[in-house]
Amino acid sequence: MKILVANLGSTSLKWRLFDFSNHAERLLHKGGFERVTDYPKAIEDCLAALQAAGVIASESDLAAVGFKTVIARDVTGCVRLDDQVLAAMAAYNGLAPAHNPPYITGIKLFAQRMPSVPLIGLFETAFYQFAPEAMTRYAVPAAWHAAGIRRWSFHGASHKFVAERSAELLGRDDVASRARRLYLDGGPASLQGAPPLRVISCHLGGSSSVTGILNGAAIGSSMGMSPQSGLPQNNRVGDLDAEAIPYAVKTLGLTLEEAQRQLSKESGLKGLSGLSNDMREIAGAAAQGHAGARLALDHFVCSARHWIGAFFLELNGADALVFTAGIGENQAEIRAAICANLDGLGLQLDLAKNAATRATEAVISTPDSQVKILVVPTNEELVVARETKRFLDNLTTL
Ligand code: AMP
Repeated sequence: MKILVANLGSTSLKWRLFDFSNHAERLLHKGGFERVTDYPKAIEDCLAALQAAGVIASESDLAAVGFKTVIARDVTGCVRLDDQVLAAMAAYNGLAPAHNPPYITGIKLFAQRMPSVPLIGLFETAFYQFAPEAMTRYAVPAAWHAAGIRRWSFHGASHKFVAERSAELLGRDDVASRARRLYLDGGPASLQGAPPLRVISCHLGGSSSVTGILNGAAIGSSMGMSPQSGLPQNNRVGDLDAEAIPYAVKTLGLTLEEAQRQLSKESGLKGLSGLSNDMREIAGAAAQGHAGARLALDHFVCSARHWIGAFFLELNGADALVFTAGIGENQAEIRAAICANLDGLGLQLDLAKNAATRATEAVISTPDSQVKILVVPTNEELVVARETKRFLDNLTTL
């Protein structure tokens, strides 16, 4: 079974082709185009590239195309992208202005080009659909909530990957198999007397979030109504008091649009450091004594610890703390700063193992650390492909 995962930007198209034959998962091909001006041609060129590579003869070899869709009104999970779902995405264009419009346009073009190939979306919000309401509500009037102003949370594909893989690595196949069936079962199933599995997943990259996971399902996340919340992001502010924007508009004489632009383009690690939005450069400059870089790094670490602490309490402890994404997988010194002085809570980092771990799966805690500390390289496209396959398999077994 071959599944194409397409990543759609307003001027880019990237893809990965997976094959799930014989119970294996294989990446057959990956590629992409930047600065796309003619999207129908880009889709045609993608198919031509797959044919030239000999991995498909025609689009009819594709069991489905999967998309990492972001958010839609009253729709989440892994679903077929029909006109109703596309309309529900359009209804929330305002919540994901950089993602929903290009996805809707691109998906319609895929549908025109290959009407007989199922188009399946895995929403980034899907992983949070079973989180307790108290963790996802904002304390706003009911009409605001009805308009979509609530904690939706994102990076769902990445944290889902961590939920499944960490359960496997911790020898909890019971949880891993429930995590794999989460969307098919419509929520977490009981573990029948087995101890709970409590995981705190830290996706730390250009965009960062911390998610609490109980028995393979998310209980909450640092991200909110938009990805403009939680930890400081590369150029985006992260958590901010609701009064700050009207106050800045009045006292700094900004328009609302300019305030929004500054909070999404001039803030976060870039704004704090006054230097760069890239943690590699920030960490290097901090080590050389750059005060802004030091502040950005320290603020990032404090914010990660704040959210880890929140889920540690909510989960009544943790079995594993997991690091993933660009910073989480590669930057040992940031993992060490986040894990410093937590022995009272049962976390002991093995400093040598941590320093030696980069972009690879590893246990980086000491053998007697009560809470295991793991590095798990994420694979969001694979999650989209797997969920698409599970969706198709489920249709055939219904
Ligand atoms: P992501 O959004 O997951 O690609 O992560 C981007 C962030 O991860 C940037 O702040 C980079 O500095 C950092 N990062 C990505 N790759 C590496 C690497 N090989 N070594 C150190 N930092 C990295």
